[in-house]
Amino acid sequence: MRLKSIKLAGFKSFVDPTNVPLPSNMCGVVGPNGCGKSNIIDAVRWVMGESSAKNLRGESMTDVIFNGSNARKPVGQASVELIFDNSDGSLVGEYAKYSEISVKRRVTRDSKNQYFLNGTKCRRKDITDIFLGTGLGPRSYAIISQGIISNLIESKPEELRVFIEEAAGISKYKERRRETENR
Ligand code: ATP
Ligand code: MG
Repeated sequence: MRLKSIKLAGFKSFVDPTNVPLPSNMCGVVGPNGCGKSNIIDAVRWVMGESSAKNLRGESMTDVIFNGSNARKPVGQASVELIFDNSDGSLVGEYAKYSEISVKRRVTRDSKNQYFLNGTKCRRKDITDIFLGTGLGPRSYAIISQGIISNLIESKPEELRVFIEEAAGISKYKERRRETENR
């Protein structure tokens, strides 16, 4: 499974609909300070279900919506869509049959969040569920941000265990057990 493209609209500095294609397994994003490079990573984290404004470098969850500039008025909503190439069928479960998987999130100024999987409305949990165990969650190791390596080195054994369990693919079973026990 590979991330093929990131589509943003009204998200942080990306006010106009923007498609960021990722044509190969190794892509770099370069540009001057403040041009929006980190905003692209925030977008990936956000669409995967990140629910902490701080982890998105904001104060409130609606800070991800374009809030205006000298030349442009603020907009009312932000959306991000990730397109995954799943032609190798690496995503297990009911989505294994799709060669392309789209994950989308939208938020409006009144903090209404909507999630979509292949164009169909879904819950946040449906998205976190299908990616659980793949390493691509809002906080898992597919996104290595500044400081994460030293956090890992300094983390307590129980925190380190969360990463190891995700890498080993057992976190989804633990999550299912937790859900069952809480019923
Ligand atoms: P650096 O090289 O310094 O790391 P960068 O390319 O990673 O820079 P970002 O942090 O992605 O830059 O982008 C910061 C820019 O995004 C700032 O100019 C900031 O004003 C703008 N920005 C962030 N949130 C919003 C928002 N909600 N609306 C409009 N602009 C925003
Ligand atoms: Mg940056």
